[in-house]
Amino acid sequence: MSQLLPSDLSTGSRGTDTLDRAGPLAGATVGETDRPAVSEPGTLVDRLPNATAASRDILAALNDTAADYPRDHLAHELIAEQAARAPERVAVESGGVGLTYAELDARANQVAHYLRERGVGPDVLVGVCLDRTAEMVAALLGVWKAGGAYVPLDPDFPAERLKLYLEDSAAPVVVTQSHLAHLLPAGGARVVDLDAERDAIGRGPTGPLPHSGTPANLAYVIYTSGSTGRPNGVAVEHRALVNFLVSMQREPGLSRDDVVAAVTTISFDIHHLELWLPLIAGARVAVLRWADAADGVRLAEELDRTGATVLQATPTRWRLLLAAGWAGRPGLKAFCGGEPMPPELAGRLLERAGEVWNLYGPTETTVWSTVHRVGRVAGAVPIGHPIANTQVYVLDPRLEQVPVGEVGELYIGGDGLARHYLNRPELTAGRFVADPADPGRRIYKTGDLARLRPDGVLECLGRIDHQVKVRGYRIELGEVESALAAHPLVAAAVAHVTGDPAELVAYVVPRPGAAPTPEAVRQHARERIPAYMVPGPVVFLDALPMTPNGKVDRKALPAPTRAPVPAAPGRARVAPRTDAERDLLAIWADVFGNPNLGVTDDFFDLGGTSLKAAEVVALVSGRLGHTIPLGAMYEATTVEKLAVLVQNRLEMGTPSVLVPLQTGGHKPPLFMIAGVGGHVFTFHKFARALGADYPVYGLKAVGVDGGRRPPESFEEIAAEYVREITAARPQGPYLLSGYSIGALVAVEVALQLQALGHEVPLVVVFDMNAPGYPPPLPLRRRLAVHARNLFRREGGVRYAVRRVRNLGNRVIRLAGLERLLFPTHPALDALPQDALRDVWVALQTAARRYRPGGKMHGTVSLFRAEVPIDLWNAVVNVDPHLGWQGLTTGRVELHSVAMGHLEVFHPDNIDRLARQMAGSIDRASPAAAAER
Ligand code: AMP
Repeated sequence: MSQLLPSDLSTGSRGTDTLDRAGPLAGATVGETDRPAVSEPGTLVDRLPNATAASRDILAALNDTAADYPRDHLAHELIAEQAARAPERVAVESGGVGLTYAELDARANQVAHYLRERGVGPDVLVGVCLDRTAEMVAALLGVWKAGGAYVPLDPDFPAERLKLYLEDSAAPVVVTQSHLAHLLPAGGARVVDLDAERDAIGRGPTGPLPHSGTPANLAYVIYTSGSTGRPNGVAVEHRALVNFLVSMQREPGLSRDDVVAAVTTISFDIHHLELWLPLIAGARVAVLRWADAADGVRLAEELDRTGATVLQATPTRWRLLLAAGWAGRPGLKAFCGGEPMPPELAGRLLERAGEVWNLYGPTETTVWSTVHRVGRVAGAVPIGHPIANTQVYVLDPRLEQVPVGEVGELYIGGDGLARHYLNRPELTAGRFVADPADPGRRIYKTGDLARLRPDGVLECLGRIDHQVKVRGYRIELGEVESALAAHPLVAAAVAHVTGDPAELVAYVVPRPGAAPTPEAVRQHARERIPAYMVPGPVVFLDALPMTPNGKVDRKALPAPTRAPVPAAPGRARVAPRTDAERDLLAIWADVFGNPNLGVTDDFFDLGGTSLKAAEVVALVSGRLGHTIPLGAMYEATTVEKLAVLVQNRLEMGTPSVLVPLQTGGHKPPLFMIAGVGGHVFTFHKFARALGADYPVYGLKAVGVDGGRRPPESFEEIAAEYVREITAARPQGPYLLSGYSIGALVAVEVALQLQALGHEVPLVVVFDMNAPGYPPPLPLRRRLAVHARNLFRREGGVRYAVRRVRNLGNRVIRLAGLERLLFPTHPALDALPQDALRDVWVALQTAARRYRPGGKMHGTVSLFRAEVPIDLWNAVVNVDPHLGWQGLTTGRVELHSVAMGHLEVFHPDNIDRLARQMAGSIDRASPAAAAER
């Protein structure tokens, strides 16, 4: 065991004891170990007037935690020692990219030099707003190596919140990436953009810097929810962090052969265990992308792929994994903490993991302060005993120790205590109080109720105050209430938690005469607090119920209504307009058992609960293959908003129009061009269904992300696509597909690729007529039709008006002003965003103008919807190939899709579609097929 510890660490006597306890003795009988009754004079134990000798012994033994650790070292120095010891071992991997210890150390040193030149030194705060990658780990380490302390800025938090953190911390430097820079307030901090400044950073020395801080310098400031409406920055020193890490290395224990799957945002203090514990131990950390960590199925796959031996998660995340049917991993150490561990969860984890641990601790005492190895489950799961150099006390309001077995407030002392709350001296003084038995020491008032069991094990029994945990997030109800009450139409507001799983409910008293809507209240809050803090149901009250002494009577708050609320009178049901909306609405319809919902109906107004939200998330993952965090349901409470959020998330980090959907596989790549909806939402799940052997890229409509005007010619759009396609894959052959109007763009892309000498053996057309099809009727027949219509008794006049308008349109077209034909089209009213409308108009205009300048040479594989797109196709004797044979010198392959035009990519159809497509691809590229 000793070689697993940092080189200069000698295991103290307490260490041996804790190691024993982690062994066979661990479990339900933890605490029954015969430990010496060390009763130090002057400790709180002596303030227990009526204690029996046995009680005193239990209390004294519990807090006998002294253990040695490298007090003069900082975590990054311990990591550098590992790098010197085993430079070639893999330290961090993320998304298939691995960094060895030597590479990690060198990169972090370069970042450190760069930051030092920009003024970072001991106790200087550095904001870090980065994606979850191996680079993020190197950058965080770089901050430490420069001597600084990091302030995590989660890019998923509202910009307003990040601004607050930056203002409060006054961090003079912020490290970010180009695509995240817009989240940060302008002015103030010096921004270091790791993308834009990559070359300059890379030119820096790879060796370490001198003077990278002392154990008494700050390591980080992490913000927690604050009861007065503002978050509090908990400032923690390096010594506390090193004590924590080294204690964890002993118990629960971590060896250099371990692989820790890191799933937690760096805004939550438990990330320290995930990132730094493996690295001080010479082990490996696999940094999981947000999307993989938030989806139970993908998380299970990632645990297998990375060979994880340790996963730390909140009960919420463990439940997510179990709900996905996770069968378990033999030998996995399952760490659970951040919220009470339900016994039922403990039982299920015990069946699936090698070891199960319940970990407890507030941010203010450095991650975890107590640990408990769960043996058998009988009733509440205890939180165990304190970690090394940590003391726990269960006290009454006079700060007297309560007898063993009785309930009091939990106080924590020892080396893990934070320095203070940043800029909050009063709050600091109120929570970090003098130890009554030794006023020179401080103890932290946790606000948790606890009981020390006669077997020497601690139990946590809930909160004294209004701090709550919802889906693993720590929330002060006061902060939520401040955000709610800031709404101009709100007179008073109370936030409350009910149900299992816990759900945040808002009780709102509107100002006299005002009638805010639930969504308006939530939206207002959303702009001020992170999504996880925004209540779901909003209950309007005439007055808040009061207790006789004038406090809000929380017990008298009514339960939120669960009956589905009908849509507001006069508000019509809005039908889905994009693929994403249609797929998501179908899921809502199933969850609510109501097929008549519209895309603008509000989830919570319909009676949505956190359980229903979890159902939606699970169905989105299961049916559509997309991961959305539970929090998204609170951020985007209508299908319309959820669709935008999902699309943006899926296509995030791809400012270009090319979205890699699946880059593995050795078949020729397929490039799928979006339809008039502009996004490639549906292609994600299609790419999955097609299988890992088929590389697939999506091409979004140019301009769909906003910020630029979409081109109105296919030639221009295709030229941009061709640039992106050949940049991603310089060698052909290229396979193309286009959905609806995207098929016309595909024709132009194929022609341009051919003109560049590339081979395009296959163009897949999803339900679209060829350009120029159907051909106009011969003049004689046209005149006959006009005459018949004009002389009809009913509708002849209307027909005449339409013809005149059409004539006008023709003039407009001849004048090259097609664009004028579309801006008032009724379809546009239905589109949810300006960018989508612009794309719609541009693509329609371009389609009207388009005349292909040649023929393609590959196969056209036409997937025709049985319910035709164009009424004309249904009534007139049509060409079954919809005119495509005229566009290619190759063959036309016809597939029928037993659905309507909008349902081509329907989840029920997708597997069949994928099989047919795979066949088309293999036929069109026989060389690749032969390899199968
Ligand atoms: P945080 O500062 O976010 O880590 O939240 C700390 C609070 O979460 C504690 O004060 C407890 O109320 C709660 N908590 C954390 N871990 C546990 C646990 N294992 N069992 C019960 N409550 C916990």
